[in-house]
Amino acid sequence: MSYLNQPDYVRYVCNCGSLKPISKIYFCRHCSKIRCGYCVCQEVDSHYCPNCMESLPSSEVRLKKNKCSNCFECPCCFQTLSTRAGHVPLRVAPPEGEDAKDVKTTPKKVYYLFCSLCRWTSRDAGIPDQSVATGGWPEQENPHINRINALIDYHKILGYIEKQQREKKKFRPKRLYMQMAMFTMTSAMMRKRIGLPSEPPMHSQSTDEPPPAIASEEVEELPAEIFTESVDITKITTLEQRLQHPEVQAEKVNELRPQHRQFLVKISQRCRVCEHSLSKPDLCPQSTKFKIQLAAFYYVPEVRIVTCEPLRPGKSSELLLKFCNPTQHQTQVTLLPLDTPVIPTVTVASEKEEFEEEDAQQESESPNLLPSIVRQVPIVEEVKPVKISANADLVLPHSPLILPPRDDAAEYDDTGDTNNFQDDPKLVIWRKGNKAVIKLHVTPNENIQESGSDSVIVGFVMQYGYVNTITTLEHKAPQKLDLQVKLFLSVGNIVGTA
Ligand SMILES: [Zn+2]
Ligand SMILES: [Zn+2]
Ligand SMILES: [Zn+2]
Ligand SMILES: [Zn+2]
Repeated sequence: MSYLNQPDYVRYVCNCGSLKPISKIYFCRHCSKIRCGYCVCQEVDSHYCPNCMESLPSSEVRLKKNKCSNCFECPCCFQTLSTRAGHVPLRVAPPEGEDAKDVKTTPKKVYYLFCSLCRWTSRDAGIPDQSVATGGWPEQENPHINRINALIDYHKILGYIEKQQREKKKFRPKRLYMQMAMFTMTSAMMRKRIGLPSEPPMHSQSTDEPPPAIASEEVEELPAEIFTESVDITKITTLEQRLQHPEVQAEKVNELRPQHRQFLVKISQRCRVCEHSLSKPDLCPQSTKFKIQLAAFYYVPEVRIVTCEPLRPGKSSELLLKFCNPTQHQTQVTLLPLDTPVIPTVTVASEKEEFEEEDAQQESESPNLLPSIVRQVPIVEEVKPVKISANADLVLPHSPLILPPRDDAAEYDDTGDTNNFQDDPKLVIWRKGNKAVIKLHVTPNENIQESGSDSVIVGFVMQYGYVNTITTLEHKAPQKLDLQVKLFLSVGNIVGTA
């Protein structure tokens, strides 16, 4: 979700200090805070082929190297290839004693791969046609497969050792003796324990560590023809085509081979602080719905710039801002000066501890804690200082702005019913349903550069009423909270006086 007309003019300050437009942030209902992309864990929920929509469990996906076994993509233009049927005349050998003239030719059905976009076919590449539609297409061997397998094996062992060390920290007193034994374990014993063949297939006998890759200054000489023969650019692969298949990197077009289609993933986002899900897609590959979708867009009032008068240093200009309440509850928006401390000022560390206890109780019952295939160890984002600063004064209203709850039916109501709010007509200049436009005044600083590259930035702290409908042991009824979020708005550039 992003706006074409207003890209990033209005930015919300996340608790980690990064500035994001509302379309790129989440709202954690458990922490009652906004969370940006740095403050969430990304987790892979499911793998699926974008062509045949087959969805596979992650263990199988790993075996298939993240690629669909049925679908191929064009090595030239990367579109999905289709299977075409064709006929080849088949010579039947004459029965003994008969003349070769009476040989019958019976057509045989064969299949080849075809790109309907660039017209590449498997016949171009010299791949023999197949007699079955489902393929059995020759697989191209990765020339570095032995080295890769050796590295994978080695890292499996390292991963195992690391896991053991982590567990050692957890259960230090009881398992100390066993852990001591761990360090004296030989690599062969280790391999046996994790179910690998006792002898590694490729590398040296004495150690399990594969030899490191060594850079060499010696490069193969270029062939002599390269200086004499003219280049036919239609026969040479592009960089993009080579990088699509990095292990081979074919130089000539006729060396290109069809590639298995890569799986796509559906990912879910989890709050790093409380570990609750903020976004979880429906597992079905065809579905575009979400099981959980806590985008800030649905919980935090949205601010949009309607218009701003031409800006001049030291001169006041009118700024019209539109506020929209996306929730099912009435909210009261108060604009506070930028230097207002944003409450609550709990440090991230203590916040984390607080939630860990709660988590233990909730783990079993909360539908938000659905298990994910891959679960990251959460690392809480460090709070960064906000680099941006306001370079204009903004006169803030003294009275709060009341926004009614969202009512989808009201969108189509043109009767102009304004709910009879006692608005200050100088402040609120338009109202409809859950939206209102207010008029503010901006005065850019005197020292601001004229028609310079820096835009005029204003900021404020928006306090808004939020109703937390999550019931916990302590709070059975919905809780009313006043939440605050800091916003920075780029309202435009200084206009030249000339
Ligand atoms: Zn953040
Ligand atoms: Zn597929
Ligand atoms: Zn193609
Ligand atoms: Zn949270």
